[in-house]
Amino acid sequence: MLDFATLGSDFFSNIDTQSLKQPFLIHKNQALQDRLKLSIKDNELLNIASGKNKFQCMQPIASIYAGYQFGHFVPQLGDGRSCLIGQVQGLELSLKGAGQTPYSRGADGRAVLRSSIREYLCSIAMKGLNIPTTEALTLVGSHSEVYRENIETGAIVMRCAPSHIRFGHFELFAVRGQISQVRQLADFVIEHHYQYCQGENQYIDFFNEVVQKTAIMIAHWQAQGFVHGVMNTDNMSILGLTIDYGPFGFLETYNPKFICNHSDHEGRYSFDQQPNIALWNLSRLADSLSSLINTKQAKLVLDKYQNYLVESYSVLMRQKFGLHEKDKQDHVLITQFFDMLYQHKKDRTNSLRQLSNVDKLAINTDFNDWIELYDKRVSQENNRNRISMMNSVNPNYILRNYLAEVAIRKAEDDKDYTEIEILFDLLSKPFEVHQDMEFYTYEAPDWAQGLTVSCSS
Ligand code: AMP
Ligand code: MG
Ligand code: MG
Repeated sequence: MLDFATLGSDFFSNIDTQSLKQPFLIHKNQALQDRLKLSIKDNELLNIASGKNKFQCMQPIASIYAGYQFGHFVPQLGDGRSCLIGQVQGLELSLKGAGQTPYSRGADGRAVLRSSIREYLCSIAMKGLNIPTTEALTLVGSHSEVYRENIETGAIVMRCAPSHIRFGHFELFAVRGQISQVRQLADFVIEHHYQYCQGENQYIDFFNEVVQKTAIMIAHWQAQGFVHGVMNTDNMSILGLTIDYGPFGFLETYNPKFICNHSDHEGRYSFDQQPNIALWNLSRLADSLSSLINTKQAKLVLDKYQNYLVESYSVLMRQKFGLHEKDKQDHVLITQFFDMLYQHKKDRTNSLRQLSNVDKLAINTDFNDWIELYDKRVSQENNRNRISMMNSVNPNYILRNYLAEVAIRKAEDDKDYTEIEILFDLLSKPFEVHQDMEFYTYEAPDWAQGLTVSCSS
């Protein structure tokens, strides 16, 4: 039995997964499979990953939750196209796209190949960048037809995380006034994931942990230029993991106002809004825990968010700029660097990577004044490990939108999955340099300038 199922029927529905037609395994994450100690053959893995067979006879479930979507409260959502199918080695297994559930609200419960490729590749990219994230074990394709704007084929990603519980799970019961269920859920999460909070002040300590973990996740997003795209409270993990890869994007040409989600007309979820939105979402979580923690205490904890974020972000940024010691002026230096990238429309990732080899950066004479300041700052410290420190946080490879698009088109048009394999390998070790793979560090070609991604697919 799934641990989550011990919560009882208020929290989920039993479901039957609906297998895809003629499914096939496109890729699997071998390292993750090893960590899960899942020594099963690929055909058996496929049967589980395609929704055909149960995992160790466990009953699949879809959980119920709510959520603020683009700032508007939706009192009832749920796993409309995902479900928990098992747990192993302390990780839950979840299928995304295995058919309808009671929470599908008329939609088909499926996921299309293109969005599944994006989720699969971004999961490994985030893991490679050491950003807290759900992981993906398998990517399964099929001959099932799925109707979107065009007819597409269905696919399933098997996700893995210690828990898939979101802020929205708490919101559902809180808004209904079911405070004993709120308590039950909090007790469950504390018992399984925050044991060290147990004790007299466990609820406020637990909330503090969620605030801190969320701040650390956001610090990583901002440091690596990741934009989630749909930071609804039903997409906020109670463990501070990045969850639900839909219309995400990495900053390429630097623009702090970058909006990756084409459906986000107001820019609510733009890159520079993410820290504020996470705090807003945490405030909504505090509201839904108000039967367990008092408002004053919650406010004090929320006030710590900014410090948690800045602390984590500045550690990451100092590493990225190769600076060991704190200097009050460093934030000016860093701000000037990003202003320069913005003004000259430079690629964020490549420019940061070139910091460890400023000769490359100096090709652009507009940068010379800044480089002089930077050289001076760096020479204040005699840090012999500077280059290796920088190269361990400034990736060579990120999941550029056009790279994902090339992999998608090859998969869709030619049933050629080699690009997925190449990207998976590069992104799993994004800080390494592969001499014959420089192509994958290139900026987007002209044909890819107009690519857009949007919400559900
Ligand atoms: P998302 O933006 O993908 O997180 O979806 C928001 C809500 O809509 C979640 O409750 C999903 O389960 C549900 N949903 C999205 N797409 C589908 C679909 N194709 N079929 C059923 N439910 C879906
Ligand atoms: Mg979601
Ligand atoms: Mg989604």
